Amino acid sequence: MVAPLGSTARTQLRRGAELAADDVAELYALLDEGLLAHVGIADARQPFVLPCAYARDGERLLLHGSSGSRLFRALAAGMPACVTVTLLDGLVYARSVFHSSMNYRSAMLFGRASGVPDEDKESALRTIADHLMPGRWPEARPPSRKELAATLVVALSLDEASVKISRGLPDEAPEDAGWPAWAGVVPLRLVAGSPQSADPGPPPPCVLAARPT
Ligand SMILES: Cc1cc2nc3c(=O)[nH]c(=O)nc-3n(C[C@H](O)[C@H](O)[C@H](O)COP(=O)(O)OP(=O)(O)OC[C@H]3O[C@@H](n4cnc5c(N)ncnc54)[C@H](O)[C@@H]3O)c2cc1C
Repeated sequence: MVAPLGSTARTQLRRGAELAADDVAELYALLDEGLLAHVGIADARQPFVLPCAYARDGERLLLHGSSGSRLFRALAAGMPACVTVTLLDGLVYARSVFHSSMNYRSAMLFGRASGVPDEDKESALRTIADHLMPGRWPEARPPSRKELAATLVVALSLDEASVKISRGLPDEAPEDAGWPAWAGVVPLRLVAGSPQSADPGPPPPCVLAARPT
């Protein structure tokens, strides 16, 4: 079982503390729904934040990248990292510009990743593939030894995490109640479009069922 959300000094929400989720199940659900993480590291000169695919594997997050990637070499070497995953759920139209905002679920993870050992690499890559493209792994060509050698897979524990969730209608100032502007929420979600085939013939069922829907 991972540590409770927000249980360290740096994962305690200060701003908007009432939006903090305290149930680890919310973290798991968010990570299982998302596809894209932003991974931040800092060297002596400056921070870098890079978008990456990921998958949750129980109580850890798996990330994969080129063995030549600065980011992945740093992560595998245990450089401190901060990872965020954000699901954008809506545009919140308040009557004032000031109170207009977004609905979202977002997670922030802190820690030092470690490299997944060679003998576990293929199964970790399968976990990532199963998250991004469920059902695809048995159909696709498996990674070659050379491809595995060219890939770094790192794991980050979910032990130090926070989740912030903003949902619902605009939180307006009482004096804005009479302002003659529409107020409400426009829900947003990521949807899969129609598959575009590279070959003749229909896509297989796992592609037709592609998430997100
Ligand atoms: C889609 C989206 C859009 C946003 N747009 C804005 C914006 O335009 N302006 C703005 O001020 N804020 C925005 N936020 C909120 C923003 O992410 C911060 O929560 C907020 O700015 C407070 O920052 P802080 O450093 O004062 O947080 P603090 O409360 O001081 O942060 C302390 C700790 O709380 C946790 N935490 C803080 N924010 C988050 C988060 N979003 N998700 C998970 N854990 C968190 C982290 O562990 C962090 O280390 C947005 C959030 C999302 C997800």
